[in-house]
Order: sequence, then structure tokens, then C-alpha cells
Amino acid sequence: MSYVDEIIESVVAKNPSEPEFHQAVKEVLESLRPVVDANEEKFRKEALLERLVEPERQLKFRVPWVDDKGQAHVNTGYRVQFNSAIGPYKGGLRLHPSVNLGIIKFLGFEQIFKNSLTGLPIGGGKGGSDFDPKGKSDREIMAFCQSFMTELYKYLGENTDVPAGDIGTGAREIGYLYGQYKRLTGRYEGVLTGKGLSYGGSLARTEATGYGLLYLTQEMLKLNGIDIAGKTAAVSGSGNVAIYAIEKAQQLGVKVLTCSDSNGWVYDPDGIDVAALKEIKEVKRARLTEYKNYRPNSVYHEGRGVWSVKVDLGLPCATQNELHLEDAKQLVENGCIAVAEGANMPTTLEATEYLQQHGVLFAPGKAANAGGVATSALEMSQNSERLSWTFEEVDAKLQGIMVNICHNMADAAERYGFAKNYVVGANIAGFEKVVDAMLAQGIV
Ligand code: NDP
Repeated sequence: MSYVDEIIESVVAKNPSEPEFHQAVKEVLESLRPVVDANEEKFRKEALLERLVEPERQLKFRVPWVDDKGQAHVNTGYRVQFNSAIGPYKGGLRLHPSVNLGIIKFLGFEQIFKNSLTGLPIGGGKGGSDFDPKGKSDREIMAFCQSFMTELYKYLGENTDVPAGDIGTGAREIGYLYGQYKRLTGRYEGVLTGKGLSYGGSLARTEATGYGLLYLTQEMLKLNGIDIAGKTAAVSGSGNVAIYAIEKAQQLGVKVLTCSDSNGWVYDPDGIDVAALKEIKEVKRARLTEYKNYRPNSVYHEGRGVWSVKVDLGLPCATQNELHLEDAKQLVENGCIAVAEGANMPTTLEATEYLQQHGVLFAPGKAANAGGVATSALEMSQNSERLSWTFEEVDAKLQGIMVNICHNMADAAERYGFAKNYVVGANIAGFEKVVDAMLAQGIV
């Protein structure tokens, strides 16, 4: 059996009930076959793949908190410190009822390669809790965040582990987490990113993942001789990534026809109104059913359906495994030319393969959504320097990073004979630097 197959088999056997983690490992290792095969003897001797798929440290802890009625609740907190070969652990905290260890491990594993692709010195980690922020008061959110940080702070530090936001963790949650960290340690240091501007946050961090997604998509199209201006797009999600993806898409001349939340989706033939979306989601924290009040021409549908709309570009920006094989078939039938993942692993393996086999340009999340973590690393740099850069400075650096990532993934794919297969390219480009560092640092 090949080394890659052995490792995939052992990951499944050793980590039962973690299908998302299996999926992520399989997707990455399958595409690394050419590199692994060429170095099999050396990698086997150093148990390189065994070390790569085993987190350096996994924390699981109790998070007790009290609601507004005086009722106590207990959630489970997680932090997986996956790989620190190229820098301190870096990766977001997800707050969503679906969170479990397998989901955090899949996200942490992906994060290793994504962070490496940015070219910045950051290792891979991820964390979160099965706490559901929806419908909670600000005081309840604060109670949860303070309790969560009361355990987690022991393992964090500006040179050790620097978490950020993710699903359910926005500026409000980062503020409460940071306040508690500072209170417990007495240290004012850049230990979380996504902070508010008044206390060490970076301009353009809020916009970074969505903007970065569009910078990379624009460059990928350009490499293939296509101009992004004048195209139509379907976006899923209506959170941080989706909102700023829509905003930048429109600035680049793309008409975005859809967005969604976990209950339903909106079709707006005139193009999504970003100001209305921001008000509904960022200010009112309401559901998408409200969108029709702002745009009478739009249509709201219950359930899924974003990928049934005829568009040139598909931009999944909600959550994992939200674009299935049937959706991929529909997109191809409708003449879609590119899919770029704003979310982490939103496209199933079968759907990804179908899109690629049918000539759809496909940018995987670890490249396409790396703008968020890249700008988080820029926030860390500003914190270390005790300086704040302008929006334009950060945005220009972000653009440069995304264009670089695009070229690196395209070049790596070509070098190994997989031209235009950006999944293979992104995995190989991310892997090379991590492996180099792991080999240099010995068996640790
Ligand atoms: P938000 O919480 O701001 O938004 C998430 C959006 O996805 C919401 O519209 C939410 O709907 C929807 N959603 C969440 N879970 C589900 C589900 N199970 N089914 C259908 N819809 C769902 O998160 P972000 O925008 O920050 O993150 C979105 C994705 O991007 C995630 O995969 C995240 O890991 C990834 N990502 C985020 C980065 C960042 O900087 N924020 C960086 C890189 C990747 P509802 O409101 O109904 O829950």
C-alpha cells in the first residue's frame, strides 16, 4: 500500500466519528501524492505524514455560564494547536452548535497549509465551542466569552497561539474575549486578531476575507485570459465573508444575484444591496426574510437553492459541505466558469472533482479565503510595532498577498504536471514550506 493510502487509513481508524477531518486529510494527501511519492523513503523514515496529521496539542474543556434568568449552562470548548513548524498557532474560534472535535481538527489541518500559502510566519490552529450565539443577549455572550477565556488563556500568547474570529465569532465576541484575557494576565498584547480599532485592531481586517476572495478570483480569471468585470455571481452566506465578498465583487463590476443564511436564500435580479444586507445582518442581527422590505423586486426562498441560479461565478461563503454534486451539475449546466471558496471546504469532494472535470476553474478555500488570516498576521505585525497602518496600506498588502498566492498555486500545479488544477497546486505550495521546516527542526 502506498504511504499516502496507509496514512489515510490510519487517520480514519484512529479518529472514528470525525468525517470532516477524514475528508480534509484525504483531500490534501491525495493531491500531495506526486511530492510524497518522490520523497517516500525520507518521509517514511522521519514519520513525516504521521506527524503532519497528528495535532501537536488538543484542548477540550468545560465552559460553564449563567443565562439572564439565572439558569446555568455548560458548553464544550476546544482549541487544537495543530502545527507550529513555521510560526505561532493561528486560526479562528468557531461558535456554532455543530462544533465538535472533528470539525475543529479539519479546520486546524486546513489552516496549516493556508497559513503557509500566505507566505507569512504563522502555524496552524483552530478552536471554538458548541455554544450558539444566536438569540443570546449581549450579557449572555459576555458571560460565555469570559468563561471560555478563563480556561483558554493559559495556552495563548502573542508568540504562542493567536486566535481570531470565525463563524459566530465577530467583533463583539473578540472584544469580550480580549477583555478577559487582559484581566487574567495583566498583559496588553496582540493575543487575538479581529480586535476593534480602538484597541489594536487593523483597518481592513473586517473586509479582508471577502475582499481577498475577489482579488484571488480576479487574478485566477486573468491568468486564464478572462476579465472579471461584467460577470454575474452567486454568493452563499450572509456573514462576514459573504458581505465583503459581495461588496468587492460589485466594486470590480460583478453583479451578485444571491445570498443566503441557514434558513433560506435571496434572489435579487438587480444585484444584492450591500447596505441593506449590512443593516440586516451587522446592525439588526436579523434573518434574511427582512431583505424583501428593502428590495421589493427580490424573492426570498426557504431552504437551499443558491446554486440553481444561472451565473458565471460561484462563491460559496457560508459553511462546509454546502455545495453538493447536484449543485455542481447545475452550475456546469448553467455555464458557470469559476468557483472560488470563501468558506472552508464548502464544496464536497465529488462536487469539486465534477467541476474540475468539466473545465470550471476551481480555487480551494485554503488559497481563496487566506486573505483573512493574512490580514490577521498583518494585525500582529502592527501590534508588535505599536503602529497602525492605513486602510489603503493594508488593502494593498492584502492584494499583493492574494496575487502571490494565486501565482504560487498555479506554478506549483504546473511544476508537477497538473496545470490549472489549483487544488493540487495550493496543497503542494502550502505543504512544501511546512515540510521543509519540519525536516529542519528534527523529530518534534
Ligand atoms: P459568519 O458567522 O459571519 O457567517 C456565516 C454565514 O453562513 C451566515 O450567513 C450563516 O447563516 C451561514 N451558515 C453558517 N452555518 C450554516 C449552516 N450549517 N448551513 C447554512 N448556512 C450556514 O461566519 P464567517 O462569514 O466568518 O465564515 C463563513 C465561512 O468562511 C466559514 O466556513 C469560515 O470558516 C470561513 N472563513 C472565515 C474567515 C473570516 O475571516 N471570518 C476566514 C477564512 C475562512 P446564519 O446566520 O443563519 O447562521
